[in-house]
Formats: sequence, C-alpha cells, structure tokens
Amino acid sequence: METPEDIPLEELGRRVSAARAATEARGETFYQGASRVHLAAFPPRERWDDWVELSSRAWPAREERHYMLVPTTCFNCESACGLLAYVDRQTGQVRKFEGNPEHPGSRGRNCAKGPATINQVTDPDRILYPMKRSGPRGSGRWERVSWDEALDALAARIRAAITQNRRNEIMVHLGRPGEDGYTERVLASWGVDGHNSHTNVCSSGGRTGFQFWMGIDRPSPDHAHAKVIYLISAHLESGHYFNPHAQRITQARANGAKVIVLDTRLSNTATHADYWLSPQPGSEAAINLAVANHLIQTRGYDRDFVRRWWNWAEYLTQCHPDVPVTFEAFEEILAGLYADFTFGFAAAESGIDASVLAEVASVVAGAGSRFACHSWRSAAAGNLGGWQVSRTLFLISALLGAVATEGGTFPNAWNKFVPRPIHVPPHPGVWQELSWPLEYPLAQNEMSFLLPHFLKDGRGKLDTYFIRVYNPVWTNPDGLSWMEVLCDEDKVGCFVALTPTWSESAWFADYVLPMGHGSERHDTHSYEQYDGQWVGFRQPVLRAARTRLGEPVTDTRQVNPGEVWEENEFWTELSWRIDPDGSLGIRQYHESRAHPGSKLTVDEYYGWMFANSVPGLPERAAAEGLSPLEWMRRYGAFEITRGQGAQHEQEVPAAELADLHVSPAGRVYTSAAPAPSANIVPAGAPAPDEAGRRAAGVMVDGVVRRGFPTPSGRLEFWSSTLAAWGWPEHALPGYIRSHVHPSRLAADQVVLLSTFRLPTQIHTRSANAKWLDELAHTNPVWIHPADAARFGIGRTGDLVRVETEIGHFVAKAWITEGIRPGVIACSHHMGRWRLDAAPSSASSPRGAGGMMATVGLDRGDDGWRMERRAPAGPYSSADPDSQRIWWNDTGVHQNLTFSVHPDPISGMHCWHQAVRVGPAAPGDRHGDIAVDTGRAHEVYQQWLLMTRPAGQVSPDGTRRPHWLMRPLKPAAEAFVIPAAGPGT
Ligand code: SF4
Repeated sequence: METPEDIPLEELGRRVSAARAATEARGETFYQGASRVHLAAFPPRERWDDWVELSSRAWPAREERHYMLVPTTCFNCESACGLLAYVDRQTGQVRKFEGNPEHPGSRGRNCAKGPATINQVTDPDRILYPMKRSGPRGSGRWERVSWDEALDALAARIRAAITQNRRNEIMVHLGRPGEDGYTERVLASWGVDGHNSHTNVCSSGGRTGFQFWMGIDRPSPDHAHAKVIYLISAHLESGHYFNPHAQRITQARANGAKVIVLDTRLSNTATHADYWLSPQPGSEAAINLAVANHLIQTRGYDRDFVRRWWNWAEYLTQCHPDVPVTFEAFEEILAGLYADFTFGFAAAESGIDASVLAEVASVVAGAGSRFACHSWRSAAAGNLGGWQVSRTLFLISALLGAVATEGGTFPNAWNKFVPRPIHVPPHPGVWQELSWPLEYPLAQNEMSFLLPHFLKDGRGKLDTYFIRVYNPVWTNPDGLSWMEVLCDEDKVGCFVALTPTWSESAWFADYVLPMGHGSERHDTHSYEQYDGQWVGFRQPVLRAARTRLGEPVTDTRQVNPGEVWEENEFWTELSWRIDPDGSLGIRQYHESRAHPGSKLTVDEYYGWMFANSVPGLPERAAAEGLSPLEWMRRYGAFEITRGQGAQHEQEVPAAELADLHVSPAGRVYTSAAPAPSANIVPAGAPAPDEAGRRAAGVMVDGVVRRGFPTPSGRLEFWSSTLAAWGWPEHALPGYIRSHVHPSRLAADQVVLLSTFRLPTQIHTRSANAKWLDELAHTNPVWIHPADAARFGIGRTGDLVRVETEIGHFVAKAWITEGIRPGVIACSHHMGRWRLDAAPSSASSPRGAGGMMATVGLDRGDDGWRMERRAPAGPYSSADPDSQRIWWNDTGVHQNLTFSVHPDPISGMHCWHQAVRVGPAAPGDRHGDIAVDTGRAHEVYQQWLLMTRPAGQVSPDGTRRPHWLMRPLKPAAEAFVIPAAGPGT
C-alpha cells in the first residue's frame, strides 16, 4: 500500500491541489491534506469514527491505534475553542486532545492550554469524591461522603432559607462561567438573586465604556478584514478570545494591516506590533483622545455616520439649550470639546513622544471604516476611571464610522447566539444588596470583591455560599480578608466549593464537590470572534463516545473518573431535593416535558434546545440522518450565520410598528409584540415609554431603523444615564486621572502592574496541568535597569521587597528594558500555596502538585505573615512525571497584599498599585507576605467615600437604571428602593 513517505513531495503537492479543487467544487470544506493519502492537518470528519494513527512508542514497528474522535470545548479560558478528544477504541479512554476543525471560531487551532486538558483529566491530585470537612475550617481535615449525603444537607439548608424568606442568604459565586445562562436559570427557578461573578475583578471596566456607547458591553472586532488594529491589551497572546482573535489578527497582518499596541510592558503581543506604545499607566484615555482630537480637527471623521448615529441632538438639547439643534452647531462644539487633548498633552501624560502619537493618529485616520479595536482588562481594569479607556477607544471607532463594518468593530450581541432553553423561570422578586449595593448603582457587575467587607460591616450574612471555578482567596485582592470571613461561621454558614481541583479557597470549605473538566461536562457557548454567530457544545466525551457505540449513559458520573460529576445534573438533582413535591414551584423548571413528573435530563435539555432554538441546525442534522443533538454530539459546533452586517441599519418592518409613537429625540415606540427570536443574547433593554410601549427602533432621516439598545436608540456620545445618575461631568468620553497618576505618587513610589496573564497559564485551574507548569511557574518582578540602579537592586534574581498600602511581598527581580522606568510589573498567575496544617494524605490533599508551595500563616499584632515552609518539588504519585519536577520557584502571591479599589462608577477593582520597591530586608525570604487586614478595611472605607449612592442620586427612586445589563435581572419591583431603606 502506498504511504506518504513513498510519494515524492512534488507529487504530494499536486495531489493536494487536485483534492482541494475537487472538494471545493463540491462546495465542501477542504482539510489540507488527508492522512494516508497525503499529509494531514486535520482528520477528515467522515473518518472520525475510526481514525487510525501509528503508535509513536512502537516505532519502528508499525502499530496502529484506532480512535473515535469526539468534539468538546476547551475550558481553559473564555475563548471556548473546539477540541477533539482522541478516544482510544481499545481502552475506552482519552489519549489526547487536538483542535476541532469543525469549530467556526477556533478553526482547528488551540493554544498550549487546549491540548493540556489531558493533564487535567489525568492529574494525580484531582478531587475524585465528595469531601466534607472533619475539623475546624482551615484545619485541612476531610472525610469522604456520598453525593446523597451532601445533596440532602445542602437541599435542607436552601429549602429552609427559601421558606423562611432568607433568600438573600443563598449565593452562587462563579469564576469562569464557561456556559451561557445555565446557572442563572437555576437561581431564577429558586427565586433568589444569588448570582455573583468575578467580572468586577476582570473586565467590567472595559465593558462599562462600551455599554454606555452601544447598550452592549463587549466589542466584536472584525480583525481579519481590518486595515488598522488597535489593541489596549496583550491580545495576541492572552487577551479575551485570544486564540480565535490572534489567528484573525495574523491573517490581517499577512494582508498588510498595521497593528498598534498600547501596553506599558513589552508583551509578546507588543513584539508583533507595528507600533508599540509603552504609556505611563493610566494615560491610555489621554492618548485615545489625542487621536480622536486629530480626527476631529482634521475633519477626518465620517460626518454622515456621526450625523446619523450619534445622539448629538439629545446632547445639544440637554447641555446646550441656547444652541440651535443642527449638526453644524454640534460640529462646532465638538471641535472645542477635545481641543486641549493635543499630542503635546498626551505626550506629557503618557511619556510617549508627540511625534510618535501624531504618526499613530495618521495611521488610524487612514483606516477609515476598517478600524478594529479591543480593550478588555489591561488599562481599563487597572485604573480609577479605567472605563473611560474603552469609552474613548470606541470614540475613535464611532468617529471613523467603523461600527459594524467589514474590518470594523461590532457590538458583541450581533455576533453571539444564546439559544432559548426548554424552561425559562421568571425574574426573581428580591434584590441582593451584598452584590448590588446602593453605593454602586451603575456598577457593571456584582461588587463581588467587596463581599468580605460587607460581611464584616454586618450588612448581611450567607447561609449557603457556593463557589464554582472560583478561588476568591487567591484570585481577588485582599485574599486574607476573604479567608477571615470564610472561617467565620456566623458570616458564612455553609461554604461549598464546586471544583475539579484543590485550591486556596476550597481549603476552607465545608463541602468540596468534584466537578468535571472541559471534557467531562455539558455546556453551550457562543462568543463574538468574527462577524457571524455560532453555538458550541461542551460535552463529556466518554459519554458521547459510548452513546455513539449504542451504550446508554444516563448520568455523567457513569463515565467520569471516581465520582466526578457535572454541574448541570447536580443542579437538577439539588433543585428536586429542595422542592421534592413541587410545592415551592421550583421543580417545574427541572422536569421533563416529554415525561412529566420525571427529572429533566441533559439529553432532553440540550436536545430540545438544539431542535427548537438554533435556526438551521435541525435541517443540517436531518441532511445527515441525525437528530440535532446527535449532530452536535458528533461535530461540537454549528455556525448559524455569517456576515451579520450592520444590524442597526435594518429597517423595522411596518408589521412590528403598530401604535407607532416617536419621541422628540427620535426614539420609536410601539405596542406591537417583538418578532419572535430564539436568540437571548444579553443586551441593554431600553425602558418603555410612559404609555408602556416598548422601544422598537429609532427614526433616522425619516426611516425607522433598529438602532442600538440604548435609551436614545443611537450611539450615546453623551450618556443621559451618567448625567441623570449623579455623574454629569463624566457623561462624555473623557479622561479621569488614575489613582496611580504621577501627581499622586510620592517621590519614592512606582506603579505596579499586576494584571497581566502568561500565555500558558490561566488563574487557578491550569496549575494542575503539568506541561503548562513546566513552561511557566514563576512570576519575577520586572524592573527597568534605571530603577534597579535607583533602588539598589543589583542583579536579576536578587530578592526585592515590594511595599503596598496594606503590607508587602518578597519576590525575585527581573531587570529588563521591557518595562518603562517608574513602573514595575508582576504576573498574577503564580504564588499558589497550601497551608502547612496537616501532612498530605488521602484526607489532606496536596493541591496542585508542581505549583503549590507549602506555607505557614500566622497572625501577630501587626497583621498576617505568610512564609514558605517547603517549596514545590518532586513527589510520588500515580504519575511518574511528578517525580521529575525540576523547579522549586513557584513565584509569589502578590494579590494578598492589595487592598480593594472599587471604581465608584463601573465598580471595577482598580488593580494598579502605588508601591515602594527596594532590596529585600534582612531575614526576608522569597514568597514572604505581610498583610494588615485592619488597614485593608480602612482603605475599603476610603474608596467607599467616592461613591454617589442611589439613595441620593437616583432620579426615579430605583436602585439602578433598569435598562443597564445585569446578570439574573430581578423583577421590576425589586429595583425600587424600599421606603424604609435597603435591607427591608
Ligand atoms: S485560547 Fe487556548 S485556553 Fe483558551 S479556549 Fe482556546 S485552546 Fe483553550
């Protein structure tokens, strides 16, 4: 038989070209090469049932391995790339993961973290059975319990809280959701406003700026077709949706696009940029405004787009009542608004030469409507007022008319599709003040990182607190305040960790319940990665493989290791036990429709969704003789549309405009019902008019168009919401000087950047992947040579002490010109630890074997001290590789030494720190931490003073503008501030 090795390369190339032409002529996708006939990049899908590879270990013998290839979705970041599990047909186990070429977002590509899923599955330290605490919290003593015991105990607590009207004492706190709405649906069915997220320590600063412009909180840049790509992040290596975006940015660069990167640190992304700007942290909005001012002063903006789509008329009416409401009058005012944001001003703020800024601005001006931009964490997550970074960035897009254009930036809701589920419970009728306090009426997401301080202030308590893929003690700032409240049973009655792996937080839990990795659970996803919409399916691959072989599987635990479960089945089971007879009205949302009175299964849940809520999928599946669920189990992702285009320009059909009413500002209202849609992607929901008619569009040059889901229906250059809710001075895109602005630093202080990711790690969950740990396991402090000389730090590797406002940490120096002088940087991924409370044993876990140091933690008069007792190193386990760990430096847990910095508008934690840095003191050791949590509480109180609470500024007696997005939005009546004050 002919093999690839037998064929001359030239002949191979000829055959590939011929095969490509033949395949494309049939209208099918061509995989470059095909195994056995010629070189293959991906196994052709028609051979996924029995894919044959030669065993590398058996070489030179030609030993065949037969695989069933089963798709799932990576869970190692939010990009949700497709994976293909190679299920060995002989052993029935997964041997490896590679990319799924059928996935429209990732297109067969993955970063290092995707294939490393196999490490997580085979991790010798993973949690395999439900555990219950058997000593005091934090003692590290555990006993194995049955799922029944854990479920009954939790169900009894939750049922009591619900029936005793203590619904706000139930909270589920998500780190990485990894799904689109399942948990919110469960909480809604319980009637509790108990959803909490990590978003205010992550992306809410970035979201807020986009939300006030578009009514939608995420950008969706069409990188692949852009002429200029402007990134305020390390997007190519670790940003949001970075693998799907990185491949499209690379595509654009190959076609001549220019890439501009703003990043104080020389990231891998910056090394690939045409223009790398290393600004003083917090000055990014000033740079954006200088670019915008250049477009305005040179009339380099798209006048017709601005005239048609900005809410300039509303702005003039409200803010310049003496000026005629004409576009020309607005242009005159606009020219003056940003005139002070010269290149000279931006240069003074940022430290970047005015000539460089001018050159960048002219490159941007040349992009026209092919200007793609992105900002997510980075500067928007680092600075007081950081949300203005994304608001000023989108100002550039809005000036260029590069909104929902080819090569421009879309609102994400148009490039995302969330199918409607089988049951939709009503909005809860309660308001959780521990997550949505009155001080932060405009917060983009839950004020999650203030929870310990609210509990310490006696604002409430929690009866049952779940965390899921979330490690608050380690991830959040001020983790020792978290530890203090998690150890206090009066504040947190029962603490439950839903997790695949041990963590610093799970250590304090009452129940640790093992949940599956990305190849061991069900979820659906859809993310904005190009101008199209797709739905991806994460699934337990061994369940899918056995089902394909005709073996029934009714519970994911039947195929997962140990008693590892998945949350979807867990939540259904728990909901049934909370409401066993259905009298609480909960059970109905977890019942089968096909078999009333029995539990809803994951097969029915997803089967219904794919059959009824994903346009085009039933037909596509039927063409292959499959049900929609079978099709998704076989291929893993389905593209619904491509080339959505400018949705805001769509004309609203007359049939949708009964009882038409047009406001003076051009907002169009109707009493007609909206056209039915299966897509429930979240977006802002504009308020109805006084007659209760819904906002259906906006009048533009005499035509009713769909517009944007903002109060005005247009892009909101001026935000009536910010103006009405106490912040009129920030209603326009502007520049807020950061809490780490040079004018606020003492002469011996520098700025610490602590927000950056490493490309091969992802917070807590990647630490149990040995390949990734070997690649990246430490986080030295980046220091410019000039600063090193200034502070007396001799060499790379020397210990430095970094002093924050509540304590200090000791780390190793990395002296590098990859950071601007006056700024230091340290990645947040490292410094994992386990307490030296008990020896490792079956009931006292190791945690992440190669990444966790064993530490001592003690409290003295001046606060907490943590010191390293034993570094990570080789150890015995079921995996021989754990004996081969050659590193012992696993970095430092700097986040413990940061106090909370809640932005008074967005609610974002402002991560940047003003610090002092110098050589380590005598006796200091690598990894040492000192923290005064009393001082941390004082800093929290200082930042609280910056707020303008809803009780003082709300224009209508509600807690929050109803139109703003909110996860698990409560019913309208819960928005009203009670007459007797909150908490009643
Ligand atoms: S970018 Fe990497 S970690 Fe993120 S989903 Fe894709 S493969 Fe997984």
